[in-house]
Amino acid sequence: MSWKWHKSENLPYLTVPRWQAEGIDLGFSTRVGGVSRVPYDSLNLGLHVGDDPTAVLENRKRWLAQWGVPCSRVAVGEQVHGTNVLWVKEEDGGRGIGEVETLIPAVDGLVTQSGISLMAFFADCVPLFFYYPDIKSVGIAHAGWKGTAHKIGQKVLRSFEEAGGCTEDAWVAIGPSIGPCCYSVDEIVAEQFRVNYRETPFLHTQGDGHYLLDLWEANRMLLLESGVRSENIDVASICTADNPEWFFSHRRDGARTGRMTGWISYKE
Ligand SMILES: [Zn+2]
Repeated sequence: MSWKWHKSENLPYLTVPRWQAEGIDLGFSTRVGGVSRVPYDSLNLGLHVGDDPTAVLENRKRWLAQWGVPCSRVAVGEQVHGTNVLWVKEEDGGRGIGEVETLIPAVDGLVTQSGISLMAFFADCVPLFFYYPDIKSVGIAHAGWKGTAHKIGQKVLRSFEEAGGCTEDAWVAIGPSIGPCCYSVDEIVAEQFRVNYRETPFLHTQGDGHYLLDLWEANRMLLLESGVRSENIDVASICTADNPEWFFSHRRDGARTGRMTGWISYKE
């Protein structure tokens, strides 16, 4: 597996070593090492889920300290299960990290060339991480079933292409999220994929009007179709719902649960 655990610090996380070797800090957090109480125990990094904000801010402080990045050099988007993508600039540093009022509104994809670290939050939805070596840019996207059905991954690639990036050289990592083992969806969800995708080999019928949806494969297929090379896609294949000791899961725990973060930062 291209993704590896990094467990030597107080806050364990998952990363992709070959991205680190390129100078990109990429991390996906766990629920371990924070101060939030049940049901947000303990490293809940989401400010919008009903947890005590003081605890969340302490958790975020711990996460940033681990990477040696100040609040003023991080940007956070609102995440509305849409497909809007925004280029983050120097002046966006600090947005959404200390309070929800300054979040970059109505975006699920963030890309940057600025050196500002990007942070997005997840509890089953798919984190997509992007690196375009030729234009020294990185990005992150929040792809739940809606974002995946409406092809946010492709929209992020287009944003990089508009800035001169070559998708054939791009790297993409697909992080921990709910797996096909646990993600049963109904006809309404399945239909959204049939409408938007020519083929849907990632939908496996359960015979009762429900389907097991493989969001990892849907996103991987979309990336391949858009020109990303298969050897440049790192899929974690780790299911958040199956690992309660490590991850929050909206499907497993219900609405009152925490969020992990996807983190990406170009250090150069
Ligand atoms: Zn599972």
